[in-house]
Amino acid sequence: MSTSDVHLSVERHQRDTPKSSETVVDGCKTSPGNSGSVGPGGSKRALACMRLFEFVPASVAESEPQQNSRSIYRSAYLHIRLRQMDPQGEEQQDREDLDDDEVVIRPESDVILETGSKGPYDYDLIVIGGGSAGLACAKEAVACGARVVCLDYVKPTPLGTKWGVGGTCVNVGCIPKKLMHQASLLGEAVHEAAAYGWNVNEKIKPDWNKLVSSVQNHIKSVNWVTRVDLRDKKVEYINGLGSFLDPHTMTIKMKSGDRKITSQTFVIAVGGRPRYPDIPGAVEYGITSDDLFSLNREPGKTLVVGAGYIGLECAGFLKGLGYEPTVMVRSIVLRGFDQQMAGLVADSMEERGIPFLYQYVPLSVEKLSSGKLLVKYEHSQSGEVRSDTFDTVLWAIGRKGLVDDLNLANAGVHTFKDKIQVDSYEATNVPNIYAVGDIIYGKPELTPVAVLAGRLLARRLYGESTQRMDYTDVATTVFTPLEYACVGLSEEDAVKEFGADEIEVFHGYYKPTEFFIPQKSVRHCYLKAVAERHGEQRVYGLHYLGPVAGEVIQGFAAALKSGLTIKTLMNTVGIHPTTAEEFTRLNITKRSGLDPTPASCCS
Ligand SMILES: Cc1cc2nc3c(=O)[nH]c(=O)nc-3n(C[C@H](O)[C@H](O)[C@H](O)COP(=O)(O)OP(=O)(O)OC[C@H]3O[C@@H](n4cnc5c(N)ncnc54)[C@H](O)[C@@H]3O)c2cc1C
Repeated sequence: MSTSDVHLSVERHQRDTPKSSETVVDGCKTSPGNSGSVGPGGSKRALACMRLFEFVPASVAESEPQQNSRSIYRSAYLHIRLRQMDPQGEEQQDREDLDDDEVVIRPESDVILETGSKGPYDYDLIVIGGGSAGLACAKEAVACGARVVCLDYVKPTPLGTKWGVGGTCVNVGCIPKKLMHQASLLGEAVHEAAAYGWNVNEKIKPDWNKLVSSVQNHIKSVNWVTRVDLRDKKVEYINGLGSFLDPHTMTIKMKSGDRKITSQTFVIAVGGRPRYPDIPGAVEYGITSDDLFSLNREPGKTLVVGAGYIGLECAGFLKGLGYEPTVMVRSIVLRGFDQQMAGLVADSMEERGIPFLYQYVPLSVEKLSSGKLLVKYEHSQSGEVRSDTFDTVLWAIGRKGLVDDLNLANAGVHTFKDKIQVDSYEATNVPNIYAVGDIIYGKPELTPVAVLAGRLLARRLYGESTQRMDYTDVATTVFTPLEYACVGLSEEDAVKEFGADEIEVFHGYYKPTEFFIPQKSVRHCYLKAVAERHGEQRVYGLHYLGPVAGEVIQGFAAALKSGLTIKTLMNTVGIHPTTAEEFTRLNITKRSGLDPTPASCCS
């Protein structure tokens, strides 16, 4: 999500808010009572919030009482940005000095909204977890007329890093990762600019602290907008750690003490956190992605342990920012992805100067008197032990579902490998308890999946919808320096499912036009379509390694879900000169053995 996305989401919310007395939206009935910020009440609330935070000078608040919600949000956003950029850090001070008046959004408080209770339970729904899945589910359930409370609590990392509402994606996942990836691509672009005739200083260097503070400012503004959005949508939010007492009762640990609440239904959306290896020094001296995006010192020479997408992305942007990452791989790179593409991603990173230590596992981390970290590691086959010193050790060895604090046994919910197994309705083994997002077992751990699944669940529970989440053919991108995006089946999964004789793979290397002038390597720019061999030649999977991969694959994902065939792909006229058009030019099959390297760009 970018700065403009924050504006956009607010604008979209207002545009979508129904103005008639009751409207059906996506199977949910909404009424002015839960319609958010449109109208004088909404504007008044937003203004009051801003006065409370002192984000808007009194002059703005007093002199423009009639301005619409959209411009109020925009002013608020600008003022948040200004305050957060204040080098004295006065924004934090302002928040601590707040008086508790009629406005209920209070960053320092545990409870945002007053609770209302009707019927045998305090609530219709308690959503545990205020991340992508939980927030989407809670907001939609309220829009459908349910009495909902959403709990969110973040335990600090061993280093002490903590963050606000919004979950992993906003605070320590997709958003800061994409911003750091962008920072790294910009550095590369500046170097390329010289070849395009720009007079640039080739010795440019990034300022890590400035990057971190820009990224964190953006995150804080998203946290704030999230809170305002929850307030406007009448979603009660409690900053507390929930755990079950029985299938309908939960205790919430809050700063102000424990509280017991009951609900008809529960949605568990607690997500996961990075794992630490069980070796000496791992927790004391290592960090994870939870710490990296707010690290208050330069990472320097970094050992990234783990070659899943998070490890590779972090190593990629660290290299682009001028640091020295090394990737340690226990077994394979990008498990779960197409392995030919995974190999090309790793090769492209090695070509950029990122060393990979294959088949090694860490044994210990020790802090030397110099402050450097001495890491001992072992070859998993030969047993050879090596050591090296690093400034930072980043664990990217996988994520653990946050089931422990929930006391699920009290509710009778079964767990499986730190996760919760659900059926196709996201129902657990306990009838009134559901789970959604990263915490569920065996489904893609991605924000858009969590959001859509959460929303659809709420519509089924409280609206008139019966639509279930379709977890197949979800497109995704690995934001490595040369990006990799895919949708559908990997080549090996297609072979496993249909047999090698029934699969045709169309593939090709290509040369992005914009790579020629700065003489960037085109060696790993490659794509393939995995398709049915006979009949209509339905496309099962598309894989692309190259620039702006996510943007390229997103549209093809809709085509694939609509039953794309090789014939349609070949009859689609490309947009020239783009890299996405290469999908319309694929005409060499792997089976043919012909050379898939292109002769020219334009014929
Ligand atoms: C570094 C990184 C990069 C990523 N990049 C991408 C990307 O580019 N694209 C993409 O689609 N996805 C990406 N992801 C994955 C994405 O962030 C997750 O899929 C998504 O955030 C899952 O949402 P969720 O709601 O299930 O869980 P979360 O967002 O983790 O939210 C769960 C919330 O519940 C809270 N909680 C836990 N236990 C309790 C409790 N007992 N009581 C109260 N609250 C509790 C947690 O603290 C957390 O705030 C990335 C993840 C990481 C780590």
